[in-house]
Amino acid sequence: MQVAPGVYRLPISLYSPPLVVDPKPTANVYVLRGKDGCMLIDSGWDTKEAYDGLKSQMAEIGLGLKDIKKVAYTHSHPDHFGQAGLFKEYGTTWQAAHRLEMEYICNKFSRTDDELGKTEVQWYISHGVPAKYLEELRQAYLRMHHMIRFSVPSVALEEDDVIEFTPFHLKVLLTPGHSLGHICYYEPRLKLLFCGDHLTPKQPPHIPFYSSYKDNINPIGSYLTTLKPLEALDVELVLPAHGHEFTGFKRRLDQTKRQLEQRNEETFDVLDGQQMTAFQVNMQLHPHSEWNKMPTVQKRGQMVETVAQLQALKLDGRVETVLNDGLILYKRKG
Ligand SMILES: [Zn+2]
Ligand SMILES: [Zn+2]
Repeated sequence: MQVAPGVYRLPISLYSPPLVVDPKPTANVYVLRGKDGCMLIDSGWDTKEAYDGLKSQMAEIGLGLKDIKKVAYTHSHPDHFGQAGLFKEYGTTWQAAHRLEMEYICNKFSRTDDELGKTEVQWYISHGVPAKYLEELRQAYLRMHHMIRFSVPSVALEEDDVIEFTPFHLKVLLTPGHSLGHICYYEPRLKLLFCGDHLTPKQPPHIPFYSSYKDNINPIGSYLTTLKPLEALDVELVLPAHGHEFTGFKRRLDQTKRQLEQRNEETFDVLDGQQMTAFQVNMQLHPHSEWNKMPTVQKRGQMVETVAQLQALKLDGRVETVLNDGLILYKRKG
């Protein structure tokens, strides 16, 4: 559907059993129609359903995959970057992501599945996840990794770069948090913000700490520092990577900040005079979730979020870690 003059939102199915068995979730691809062909923001992941959905929705607005002149990615998660290799096969040589995101994804694809799987499993073990869940988590992680048809983007973007695609000018805003090199694109003439996974219409953003991250990385801290510069933007319509477009940009920034701060306080409260693994903290934060029945991607989603919260508390100096027989235990400081 058209969301602004010459701008279309195409919801692409994320149905992909056994990883995602619910047919409802979608990721948005935005099409910007220029004088000669079109430019895409993000791609959907590398499944037949996603490919068919993109192709048929583009056909409805009179475009084919060969009309894609440029593709700009908000970040390199499979549901947004998954078809990079496909576009390249169709002749789209101009593809762009932030330099930091390119470094991250190239590093990941330089490693074997065996190495990636071992790092991931070791990370869960050190955070206290019971052994019976390790193999399903390893398999889901690798399956997700291969939802990308990999191709290295040809253009490395930096903060404040402007992508010209007449009549659009997309300013690059570095917004780390959801991923290390996540970017939003701001179109000043139409007052549009393509925010990727940085903002959602209602839920708090998903801010993970992954097994490959170094110990000095604080994704939540980085995220919070992006909110102030965003406040200065004149935005009429926010175009997220999942769900519907929304207005009330500044109100949503405030709500998001409060949601994250509240979540961090809840995590701090759980550590009430005890030493706990991230898994134990996670189970107290989600007392009603039944891990036995939960889809594996949700298990992973909870753990990477909980560790990100603990990491933020640790780098804020409120929590410290103790190593005990290969386990990382968190406790309040002092
Ligand atoms: Zn994402
Ligand atoms: Zn996403």
